[in-house]
Amino acid sequence: TRFFVLREFPSGLPPLNLFVLREATLPDLALNEVRIRNRWLSVDPYMRGRMSGITTYVEPYALDKPMSGGAVGEVIASRHPHFQHGDRVRHMAGWRDVAQLPGDEVEPLPQFDVPEQAYLGVLGMPGMTAWTGLNLVADLQPGQRVLVSAAAGAVGSLAVQLAKAANCHVVGVAGSQAKCDWLESMGVKALNYRGKDVDALTRSLRKASPDRYDIYYENVGGPLLEAALSNLRDHARIAICGMIDRYNDTGPAGGPGNLNQLLFRKARMEGFIVAEHWDHYQTFLQQIAPDVEREAIHYRETIVEGLERMPEAFLKLFSGDNEGKMLVRLP
Ligand code: NDP
Repeated sequence: TRFFVLREFPSGLPPLNLFVLREATLPDLALNEVRIRNRWLSVDPYMRGRMSGITTYVEPYALDKPMSGGAVGEVIASRHPHFQHGDRVRHMAGWRDVAQLPGDEVEPLPQFDVPEQAYLGVLGMPGMTAWTGLNLVADLQPGQRVLVSAAAGAVGSLAVQLAKAANCHVVGVAGSQAKCDWLESMGVKALNYRGKDVDALTRSLRKASPDRYDIYYENVGGPLLEAALSNLRDHARIAICGMIDRYNDTGPAGGPGNLNQLLFRKARMEGFIVAEHWDHYQTFLQQIAPDVEREAIHYRETIVEGLERMPEAFLKLFSGDNEGKMLVRLP
């Protein structure tokens, strides 16, 4: 098996040479273990938090040990009663080409008529995150005004569509014209945030929704959060899903200077971690998967080929090179 290890904990944006590709021979399968040839590996922004050497809501990566993350692959050997050769499965032993792990840490792929990698994106953790943040945290109501940041990403692009499906007025913020065009094609009012300071963002958000916003689905933080705070309606909800603007910070970042808006608008701001809502995953799947099957829900993928390029794929999340879900495909 070939797998990535982290050489040291980065400060700031990790340099490529921090990720080292190693090779090892796997031991014989133990009872209840399965061996999986990975086909699709997920890179996700939360992995940056695991590279900091401190426990946030998930264990940090250990230095010089195989890294982990979401993966989809094919069982090539099994000594577990629930799995046999050829089964398609999802598990967390990513960042490597061949995984070997206990069968109870592996799950069969659900049986919807979608490409298997969708279970790492729109029908996997990012999709579930969009659904959870809107429904369980932000209390999405029909006809409301909804703002989404990183709106053309894996999480954001489902969030905007779920809000549209609830007949909301949806504004999506993204970092390129191409992303904005995609958002507009889905009926979303799109805004490019690049080159805009807080004041310009505040004005743009107001123009896009003169009645301001009931919900801000927050993926970014920084100036966008400040601009959103100045554009809340009474009893607005901010679901804090992510703050990617800060993941590579080397010191404490300044907070928004206008938190008093929460008071004036009697608004609520609440963070959430999708893993803690996983008991709703089947409900999410039953609701969303049929719409993905019949292409009523759209999703995009940015695919990087080959294990060697996985660190590059990961870093591209921070420059916004991905449209939709960022994935690594293995031969
Ligand atoms: P995305 O597919 O959205 O990829 C990240 C995107 O963020 C980039 O494409 C880029 O798009 C944007 N971005 C990067 N840096 C900045 C910046 N400094 N300012 C503004 N935008 C930036 O990733 P995911 O959909 O996987 O994740 C989206 C967010 O959701 C992340 O913050 C992530 O941490 C969070 N998350 C939280 C979970 C939870 O349980 N709470 C679970 C899963 C994800 P652009 O071109 O628009 O800049």
